Amino acid sequence: MNVLAAARELDAEGPVCDSCLGRVFADRSHGLTNAERGRSLRVAAAIDDDEPYEPTDTAECWVCEGVCAEFDAWAERCAAAVEDVEFDTYQVGTRPPPLLEENERLLREAAGLDPSVGEAFKSEFNREVGKRIGPLTDSTVDFGRPDVQFTLDIDADTVEVDVHSAFVYGRYRKLERDIPQTEWPCNACDRSGYVGSQPCENCGGTGYLYEHSVEELTAPVVRDVMDGTDAKFHGAGREDVDARMVGTGRPFVIEVLEPRRRNVDTDRLAGDINAFAEGRVEVDRLGLATYESVERVKGLDASKRYRAEVTFDEPVDEADLAAALDALDGATVEQYTPHRVDHRRASITRTREVYEATGELDDPTHATVEVHGAGGLYVKELVSGDEGRTDPNLADTLGVGAEVTALDVVGVYGETEPFEDPAYFREAAPEPPEGGPEQSGARETTTDPRNDR
Ligand SMILES: [Zn+2]
Ligand SMILES: [Zn+2]
Repeated sequence: MNVLAAARELDAEGPVCDSCLGRVFADRSHGLTNAERGRSLRVAAAIDDDEPYEPTDTAECWVCEGVCAEFDAWAERCAAAVEDVEFDTYQVGTRPPPLLEENERLLREAAGLDPSVGEAFKSEFNREVGKRIGPLTDSTVDFGRPDVQFTLDIDADTVEVDVHSAFVYGRYRKLERDIPQTEWPCNACDRSGYVGSQPCENCGGTGYLYEHSVEELTAPVVRDVMDGTDAKFHGAGREDVDARMVGTGRPFVIEVLEPRRRNVDTDRLAGDINAFAEGRVEVDRLGLATYESVERVKGLDASKRYRAEVTFDEPVDEADLAAALDALDGATVEQYTPHRVDHRRASITRTREVYEATGELDDPTHATVEVHGAGGLYVKELVSGDEGRTDPNLADTLGVGAEVTALDVVGVYGETEPFEDPAYFREAAPEPPEGGPEQSGARETTTDPRNDR
C-alpha cells in the first residue's frame, strides 16, 4: 500500500480526525500515537502536493463523531470515580458504540482497504484513556488481575468501576473447643431462630448452632479495616468443632469484597483481630496476599500435627506405650472411612502415612500422645482402631482399649513446600513455621486435600 495515496483517499471521504486516520496505519512504525500518525500523514501529503496544511477538527470527524477528543475527559472521570478508593493497579475496557465500529469499517472499505486493517478504536481508546489514569491516580496498568477495573460505556456515557477483592493471609489458633471454623446455621429453624411463633429450641433462638465461629471472630475485623462490603473466610482445611487449633496455627485467607483500603498495616490488623476475638481465637503471620492465595491455601497438600488426650480401659505400662508408639512411628496405616464421618462421603479404604508418633503416660490409664501424619489421617481412629477399620492402631498394638478424649491440632504444614511462598504475597511473605514434613523426616507423599480429622 502506498501510505500517502491511501491517506489522501481516506481523507477524501469526509472530515476524519488525526486519530481515526492514524489508526488505519497503526502497524506502521513505533513510538507514535495514532493522532501523531494521522497528523504526520496529512502534513506529508500537503508538502508532497505543495498545498496549504489544513488541520481537521476532531469534533467534525464523521467516524468517531468527536469521541477521540475525549481521552482526557474520560480519564478524569475514571479518577474521580475512585477518588476514595485505595488501589495500586487498574485496567480499562471500553464498550465502543456500534455505529463507530461500523464507520471504521466503511472508512477502510471506501479507500479499498481491508476492513480490519490497522488498529480497532476500542484498543486505542483503552490505551489512550488508560495511560492518562496512572499519573492522575498514582497507580499502574495491570493486564492480569488489577485492583480496579474501569469499563467505559461510550453510548451510555458511564464509567463502571469494579473494585476487586483484597486478600489477607494468616494463621489462626482456636483456643476454645466447640467453635466451628465457619458459621453453622441451625437446620431446625433455617437460621431464623423461630419455629412458627416460638423461639427455636434446637439453637436457643439464635439461628446458629454455635455462638461463635473462627470466621465471625476474624473476617468482620478485616472487612472493617479495609472498608469493604463483605468478607469471606477460606481455610486450609478445618479441624473438628471440638478440637482446638493451637501451636503454629492453621493457614487461612480472608477475602474482602470491594475494599476501599488495601495496603493496611498487617501487624495492627492482627492486634485488632486478636482484641476482637477476646482470646477465643488468635491470628499471626498476617500478610497482604494475592488473588491466587485462596486456591493456594485450599489446595496445597498439608500434613497435620496433633496432640491427643487418650484414656485407656486398663492400666498401661510406660514401656509398652513407648513400644506401641514406636511401632506406629513411620507406619503406613489403612483406614476404612470412619463411622462418624459424613455418610455422603464415599466409604473407601485409604492409605495414610504416620510421620511421627510420640507420647507419655500422665497416669496408668491416661496418656498424652503426639502424632504427625499426612493430610487425611484420622487420628481418633488411629488411637481407638474404630472397631478394626483402622489398621494398625494404638489400641490393638497395646492390647488395651483406647479413646481420644480431647484433641488439639498443633501444626498444619505444606507437604512439599511451605504455605508462606512469597509468590502469593503482595509484600514480604511471613516466615513459615518449623515442624513441617521436612523437619520430621517425612517421605514425599501424595494426599488429597481433605479436611483433617
Ligand atoms: Zn475521529
Ligand atoms: Zn434453630
